[in-house]
Amino acid sequence: MPNDFIPSRRRLVMLASAALGTSLLGGIGRLALADSDEDDGDNHFEESANTSFTLANTGLKARVVVVGGGMAGASVAKYLRLWGGTGVQVTLVEPNPRYTSNIMSNLVLNGSRNITTLGYTYSNLSAKYGVTVNEARLTSINSAARSVTLSDGSSLAYDRLVLAPGVEFMDAYGLTQNDYATATPHAWQAGPQTSLLATQLAGMQNGTFVMTIPKAPYRCPPGPYERACLVADYLKTYRGSASRVIVLDENLSIQAEKETFNHAFTSIHAGVITYVPGATNIRIDPHTRQVNYLDTVGNPQSANAQVVAPIPPHRSTGSAPGGWLAAAGLNNSPDGRWCVVDVLSYESTAVSGIHVIGDAASCGLPKAGHVANQEAKICADAIVRLLGGQQPDPAPVANSACYSPITGSTASWLTAVYQYDSSNKKMVVAANNGNTSGATAIESATISTQNFREMSTWFNTLMGDSFG
Ligand SMILES: Cc1cc2nc3c(=O)[nH]c(=O)nc-3n(C[C@H](O)[C@H](O)[C@H](O)COP(=O)(O)OP(=O)(O)OC[C@H]3O[C@@H](n4cnc5c(N)ncnc54)[C@H](O)[C@@H]3O)c2cc1C
Repeated sequence: MPNDFIPSRRRLVMLASAALGTSLLGGIGRLALADSDEDDGDNHFEESANTSFTLANTGLKARVVVVGGGMAGASVAKYLRLWGGTGVQVTLVEPNPRYTSNIMSNLVLNGSRNITTLGYTYSNLSAKYGVTVNEARLTSINSAARSVTLSDGSSLAYDRLVLAPGVEFMDAYGLTQNDYATATPHAWQAGPQTSLLATQLAGMQNGTFVMTIPKAPYRCPPGPYERACLVADYLKTYRGSASRVIVLDENLSIQAEKETFNHAFTSIHAGVITYVPGATNIRIDPHTRQVNYLDTVGNPQSANAQVVAPIPPHRSTGSAPGGWLAAAGLNNSPDGRWCVVDVLSYESTAVSGIHVIGDAASCGLPKAGHVANQEAKICADAIVRLLGGQQPDPAPVANSACYSPITGSTASWLTAVYQYDSSNKKMVVAANNGNTSGATAIESATISTQNFREMSTWFNTLMGDSFG
């Protein structure tokens, strides 16, 4: 096996750019709208019908099982094949034939997007890259035997296992999973609850919408504040000037894009949004939709809501007591909710041979789709190197970008580059604006229609890189 079969960092970047580039060469012929029942013009990544890949024979031979076909799992499956070559067999285990993107799903609430346009299938992964897609759910892991059992009773052996199962939602505020599904949808996993919440919003008239935000870490740090803005914009524009949005944040302050959202809450949506930081003791009656809570200074308050959208605390899927991930001992964060990983390889610090990426991982990076795609590439690169007897890249770099709609036609953005800090073995925000310590993510200086337009380009490129 040649020593240079593993792509150098520079070549990886070129390969990644090339892969990204193919999804942007939209003009050549018509492009597969790969995954949607309908074409609303700007919702899908575009790909050249002429694109074909001949995977390299790197000399590597291995079986990799990937669990979960979301942002992290789809990306890692694709890049393991691209970089590992023909001998690296990749099986993707995912129960659903189609993935619904959380990203952009807040725009379903105000009617800007139809949820069917956020759907992606796995046909590109199998047809273009030779990923074997197994439509089933993982039910248990035998890490000693290096095998997994699936919901159809079959089992799969692996040399490396990559878990990307996302999050599950905890019962909170006096609500059950059934309440979330039927009366008070969190809609923090895009799908039927998103449609239910959109329908409930459409039925409102001069009423109060209450939403909650759990303590960090949670999925998509700016997402709840974005939701508050979009709902406020929709209600005041279409549903009556007495409409109100109450945001009960269990955190003591806004968790992302502070300046942007502070401006949005106190200026753009002033008089509509009431932001309550440090809310505690939240109780929600799913039948009457009465919400009781203690406010920032601990005074009891209550609200009679027409619609309630609680975002409950969440944890890595399978980490509930008795869950498959907990049974394998992978949820080793102090609170038992997340999987702690080595950020050079995303290998679990609890169980060798098993990597965890995306929202289920505890790695210091935000729980976001763009970040999940980045973690997937670092993980795929590390696995390919490990399979070849080498060590993971000692200095990985990741970036995060995110657009936040503030109204139906304007948006802001947030971005950061993360680099490995070997002194504390963590990913930290790289220096920006000459600031070498305590660097933070950068938010856009303006909220604009141009940002709103560019948001679609960013989204389609990201989804093309993950599913295209
Ligand atoms: C409203 C909203 C807006 C957002 N906006 C943004 C944004 O603008 N930018 C951004 O970067 N991020 C955004 N996010 C966050 C982003 O969607 C998540 O961080 C991302 O989806 C995480 O990817 P993941 O692969 O870890 O999980 P997911 O994408 O949830 O995928 C997990 C997959 O695992 C599968 N699975 C679960 N259990 C099993 C099992 N036992 N066996 C097999 N498969 C299983 C599931 O079916 C699912 O397909 C947003 C989230 C929300 C809710």
